[in-house]
Amino acid sequence: MLKVEGLCKRFGQLEVLRGVGLEVDRGETVAIIGPSGSGKSTLLRCINYQERIEAGSIIVEGAPMVQDGVYAGEAEIRAMRRKMGMVFQSYNLFPHLSVKRNLMEAQIVVQKAEKAAAEAVAMEMLQKVGLADKANSYPYELSGGQAQRVAIARALAMKPDLMSFDEPTSALDPELTGEVLAVMRDLAREHMTMLVVTHELAFAREVADRVIFMADGLVVEQGTAQDIFYNPQHERTKAFLKQVL
Ligand code: ATP
Ligand code: MG
Repeated sequence: MLKVEGLCKRFGQLEVLRGVGLEVDRGETVAIIGPSGSGKSTLLRCINYQERIEAGSIIVEGAPMVQDGVYAGEAEIRAMRRKMGMVFQSYNLFPHLSVKRNLMEAQIVVQKAEKAAAEAVAMEMLQKVGLADKANSYPYELSGGQAQRVAIARALAMKPDLMSFDEPTSALDPELTGEVLAVMRDLAREHMTMLVVTHELAFAREVADRVIFMADGLVVEQGTAQDIFYNPQHERTKAFLKQVL
């Protein structure tokens, strides 16, 4: 589904990603963990084409978005981006639109969906995240956990092939993280393909098919949750886990 090879990204003098490689297979949930500043968010931003890379390849469903540092054309990239949903720490809902309209907007504007069809998909996705009763509410009327679930539903409404999440619960009060993680757990169970940057190690351990540990702009180690959490091979991984567990 997604293959990243030798990805290098710098901001000025700062080499943030120094040859990152990873693969996400269809239907798999892959968690990325690692210390602050290791380049996790930057990696997701590169995969979603919010940042351009200097070297390496990003292959989406067999088609190169960028191969050996050379990008595909704008139209091809746009088509690839439509297959990728992204959920951030801050949910960025449109404040002036109702919850339902938030889910319909991109379907109508980007996918040229009919209003009735967009509305049906919106309601289906709200149902999925347990918020059908909030369809006519406005973002300011929602709790943080509800807003994040709406943000997930909005991404799902575009019927993405890959969902990436960048610390979707880290801005939430602790008592609200559970409801968001539960939605993600359901998606994993339904075999949505997911790439999840998270500080929620319990979530990674229970839900992820594979866990990737990043440090200093590199993938240090990857394996099953069992491998990474109970039998880490690298000192850097051991030190990180010791600090956070
Ligand atoms: P955290 O766990 O704190 O979210 P992270 O692993 O997501 O950290 P990134 O946000 O990817 O880390 O940042 C990696 C490095 O790149 C940091 O040193 C950061 O300061 C730097 N960086 C990120 N974005 C930019 C930017 N737009 N311009 C300059 N430097 C940046
Ligand atoms: Mg980050």
